Amino acid sequence: MTVPTDPPARRRPVLRPVEVVRIEDPGPRLRRVTFGGSNLQGFGPARPGAHIKLFFAEMPADWRPEPGQPRPPARTYTPRSFDAARNELVVEFVRHGAGMASDWAENAQLGDRITVAGPGGGHDFEPGLRRLVILADESALPAAGMIIDAVPADCHVTLVAEVVDAADQILPSQRLVDSMHWLHRLPTNAQPGSLLLDAARSIQIDDSAQWWVACEAVAMRAIKAHLTGERGLDRNRLISRGYWKQGATDHPDHDTGE
Ligand SMILES: Cc1cc2nc3c(=O)[nH]c(=O)nc-3n(C[C@H](O)[C@H](O)[C@H](O)COP(=O)(O)OP(=O)(O)OC[C@H]3O[C@@H](n4cnc5c(N)ncnc54)[C@H](O)[C@@H]3O)c2cc1C
Repeated sequence: MTVPTDPPARRRPVLRPVEVVRIEDPGPRLRRVTFGGSNLQGFGPARPGAHIKLFFAEMPADWRPEPGQPRPPARTYTPRSFDAARNELVVEFVRHGAGMASDWAENAQLGDRITVAGPGGGHDFEPGLRRLVILADESALPAAGMIIDAVPADCHVTLVAEVVDAADQILPSQRLVDSMHWLHRLPTNAQPGSLLLDAARSIQIDDSAQWWVACEAVAMRAIKAHLTGERGLDRNRLISRGYWKQGATDHPDHDTGE
């Protein structure tokens, strides 16, 4: 059984000013940004499904919040990969079109500087895991990729990914999963997460499987209620996270749906 290890112990965050060294667009709505710089020395290791905080400004590494002083705005992202030899950190941004982080990614240029804190959170999956079912929308695919990379090679992985349309079908990991299903919100304009809920209804539940569900927060709750309430999935077999919430800015990073 997997022991969810979120939330992490609170400790003073290390702030790392970093610089954009590469920008790639694997698809029309996904921007892969590589950050570099010697401040990344000692970053991590990040557990599968870990997160970082991005501050879209350069801050002094010794910045500390003073009592009563507002924290600069930040957003939560996944440290998709870190190359310790080159001090390079890859983050994949969904260009959803209406937010501070999405706007920043849209306009990012080589040499732009932001500040990274973390990583924190993430999960330790059991070494003998035999079956993993992942339900994820595009915001959670970078984390899904980390998880797929980390589970045992003989673990049977089912990945159900909800995206806008076929142009977003970008595999989150180079490791081939055993069962891959792409769900498209277009052309029906399906509500975010609603197709994942439909998919959850049709997936067989067995005692050996671990489930990891991350998507829009309201949809995540509906999926969790279906799996653990209507279908009797053991709650310890489900890791659920709301990665963003329709109509809400800066959704919190440990929304388990409790
Ligand atoms: C642990 C964790 C890891 C995450 N990792 C990633 C990651 O690697 N890549 C990634 O792209 N996102 C990731 N997210 C989601 C990301 O934090 C949110 O999408 C965040 O709200 C983006 O900030 P923003 O400034 O662009 O939008 P905000 O200012 O927070 O929100 C503005 C508006 O945009 C809407 N919105 C926010 N996100 C989305 C979206 N994905 N699709 C459609 N509408 C949206 C909101 O509902 C709101 O109306 C992660 C979230 C968590 C909790």
